[in-house]
Amino acid sequence: MLPVIFMSKHVFSVPDYYPAFSCKCAACRQTCCKGWNISITMQEYFHLLGMNCSPALRRRLDTAFHPADHPEPHRYAVITPNWRGECPLLDEDGLCILQKECGENAMSGVCRYYPRTPKSRFGYTCTLTGSCERVLELLYDKKEPVHMIPLELTWDIDLPAPDPNVQLTRAWQQLRLLAFDILQNRMLSLPARLETLSCHVDQLMAANSNAAAMQLLEAIDPADLCRQSGDFPTQSAAFCALLQIIDWLCDGSQSMEDIWLSCRAPLQLPASRLDFTPENTHTALRLYQQKAAEFARLYPQWEAYYENLLINHLLDDDYPFSERHEDVRLKQEAMNLTYALLRFFGVMYADGTRESLVDLHAACFHLIEHSNFDDLIPRMAARLNLNENTLLAMAQF
Ligand code: SF4
Repeated sequence: MLPVIFMSKHVFSVPDYYPAFSCKCAACRQTCCKGWNISITMQEYFHLLGMNCSPALRRRLDTAFHPADHPEPHRYAVITPNWRGECPLLDEDGLCILQKECGENAMSGVCRYYPRTPKSRFGYTCTLTGSCERVLELLYDKKEPVHMIPLELTWDIDLPAPDPNVQLTRAWQQLRLLAFDILQNRMLSLPARLETLSCHVDQLMAANSNAAAMQLLEAIDPADLCRQSGDFPTQSAAFCALLQIIDWLCDGSQSMEDIWLSCRAPLQLPASRLDFTPENTHTALRLYQQKAAEFARLYPQWEAYYENLLINHLLDDDYPFSERHEDVRLKQEAMNLTYALLRFFGVMYADGTRESLVDLHAACFHLIEHSNFDDLIPRMAARLNLNENTLLAMAQF
């Protein structure tokens, strides 16, 4: 067992489906170690190199990792995948041989805790990342709105102490609650819920003092539709912009590039992104709309699925603030684009089976929840000359 440096035990606020999670192990179609650069800490690396174990496990452990290109204590070595792109510690039965022989505590933190995502900056919260197929199944199965419940959890990782700024914490808690209620308001379509949230976020950010913003926040009724002001692009221009941003995002993405390439031919898209114009993508929009109608027929519960995906993502992403961002508008833009991507690829790629939708959404969340997605969005938007309302309009499809 690894020597434990940190031990953190607190009551966390978790979504009500959290306790139902258990790993599918060998039954998982796309195990989390497939095609992923899993890294381990320096302490874990040297522990695994010197650990007592059977000769067979020792042979595998000695070649399972290599030092990272720019090693740091928290990301010191990475798994060397086998020719199938899988972790070399996976046994024939799909189980981890390290865990089988030495127990769960011998595994690295990332393997032991995945897909759990504990947060502590504005209060102890935890959810499950949407890149895990079992988590997606739980989210699709959930019919009633999500509730948060208290649950005592213990981690042997370093969780930062909650932010001492009481005002910031209060704003975070209020805004998260509001987002939670708006995203679960089933009287509105999902695009209308995102528009309502975006509109409130803009009004809050325009307030001339923190006190005024808090007053505004407390007066908002999450049941009311709020329309975003300003100019919006035409439907063809917004769809063209969505295709451009998808092409930019998926270019070189391990999880999404092949999926995106397989969507291009059915949409009859020009070969180069430079030729994506509203005129040249007019046919693509018409073909997409036909697919969207088919998608609604194949997945009559799709809105409930997507609502739960967004709620879980809100928790995973630490909406409305995170370590790096306190500008809620940027977070909101990333949320709007998250929905736009999940929806576009769901329509274009899923074949009517639950498995295909799960695999697709897991791949999307590999890109969204395990990269610097939130940072990329403003950079891409600036490069492609897309304003806030264009990003919001992309969520209408
Ligand atoms: S993706 Fe989820 S269900 Fe599959 S092996 Fe990983 S943790 Fe288990």
